[in-house]
Amino acid sequence: MVSAWPRVPFTFRALRQTFGAMWLRCDACRRYAPLRLAGLHDVDHRTRTFSCSACGAAATLCVVEPTTERGMEDYRLDERARPARHPEAVRRLSGQATGRSHAGGELPGRSLKGRR
Ligand SMILES: [Zn+2]
Repeated sequence: MVSAWPRVPFTFRALRQTFGAMWLRCDACRRYAPLRLAGLHDVDHRTRTFSCSACGAAATLCVVEPTTERGMEDYRLDERARPARHPEAVRRLSGQATGRSHAGGELPGRSLKGRR
């Protein structure tokens, strides 16, 4: 017999329970890092966005390690001990975008066709 789902839906805790390890990747720098859930376990994942601490571009939450996906073999694991929010991300998130950001759109010259 199947018991009731013991987790609050849409929390990072429920995502971790479902998918196990997760990563954050930056398509501008082609780097990624493991997602650390410190303090986020009971937060609704739909209310959070992430950014790259190296370049400030939007970071994507991944449930599959990027280097195991076709076309992403060159992404490099670049975990930082104390990642800080990049000034460009602060400007973008506070509505003062400079126009240099690729947030909200595909990178120029790249196609996501055929993925997933
Ligand atoms: Zn980046």
